[in-house]
Amino acid sequence: MNILREIPELRAWTGRGVHPRVFVPTMGALHEGHLSLIDRARAEAGDQGEVIVSIFVNPTQFAPTEDLSTYPRAWEADCEKCRSRGFDAVFVPPVEVMYRPDASVRILEDRLSRGLCGASRPGHFGGVCTVVAKLFNLVQPDAAVFGEKDFQQLAIIRRMVRDLDFPVTILASPTIREPDGLAMSSRNAYLNPEERAGAVVLSQALGAARKSLDEGERDPHRLSQIVGAVLRESPLGKTDYLAVMHPGTLEPWIGAIHPAEGVLVALAVFFGKTRLIDNLHWTGPSGA
Ligand code: AMP
Repeated sequence: MNILREIPELRAWTGRGVHPRVFVPTMGALHEGHLSLIDRARAEAGDQGEVIVSIFVNPTQFAPTEDLSTYPRAWEADCEKCRSRGFDAVFVPPVEVMYRPDASVRILEDRLSRGLCGASRPGHFGGVCTVVAKLFNLVQPDAAVFGEKDFQQLAIIRRMVRDLDFPVTILASPTIREPDGLAMSSRNAYLNPEERAGAVVLSQALGAARKSLDEGERDPHRLSQIVGAVLRESPLGKTDYLAVMHPGTLEPWIGAIHPAEGVLVALAVFFGKTRLIDNLHWTGPSGA
């Protein structure tokens, strides 16, 4: 396995000119969700291409009050997991390689970032866009894979690539879940047993949303009430947001939902200090 830490090492690697180069950016503490992105990248790269994974806990996307210092770091275990999957190199830059002490340029996306996690975490998506732009410039991938688990992030990265003309194809990969439905997340490791048991309510609430949409519910307000009622069944969960949005604009659906345009039901719920997110991107009745 090729571990690249410094920019010259990375440049020497990419300078070999192997294509397509497919990139998977992560913050490490890898789980099956991340590994599914790597599998998708491998399939996309094919036998001729290569897959590069980055592991970087990006400080600029954490607010001072957030969990940067405690964010799970599991380098040895990550390497083991990566060895078992087909990828060619991992880029693990130290913070000082990514950010000079007097760095003063940042990317701002100010439409899709306004609501949802952007409202709850001011500055978060500026940090995400900045680090992804830097990683794209460093890795120079032909394609990059992102998870639908972070739907707003995926939409914002697509917008950045479109608006700033990055020559990178963005590929979306579906959310991988635990057997009980909880979306896999590095932050699940923070949950105590009671919180972990209660956290299943997010996917249950989204399941209720899918069922009522499949059965013909088109009123965003009623849909929101149905989801909210399920969330309230969990005494430990404190809802940060519950939103019924247009999946293209990430603005609230006003008026009846049009199945042809789809709908995004997005949730963020605190269990103790741990904030979990999940979403349903509904694009028409299941099996239709
Ligand atoms: P993170 O390490 O949390 O920044 O995530 C890195 C990438 O993995 C992002 O594109 C996430 O959307 C994706 N990801 C995280 N959790 C999951 C999951 N449960 N299923 C699929 N992709 C995921």
